[in-house]
Amino acid sequence: MSASDACPFCRSLDNSVQRFGSGKMQMFHVNCHNCGADGPIADSSAEAERLWKTRPPEPKRGNGHPQSKN
Ligand SMILES: [Zn+2]
Repeated sequence: MSASDACPFCRSLDNSVQRFGSGKMQMFHVNCHNCGADGPIADSSAEAERLWKTRPPEPKRGNGHPQSKN
């Protein structure tokens, strides 16, 4: 399994699906080899790639409310 999509954090294409767990408890996620970012954990490599591609480009921080005058 080769690069699925560019890393949302560093734009590197050097990433691959990693499998971990054992027996029936196998899980997958995409790992960026450049910056070390991990994608969401999924039950299959295909799902892990899908989640990686659809994850938001940047995690939301704080409460996400811009300051507004009121
Ligand atoms: Zn990266």
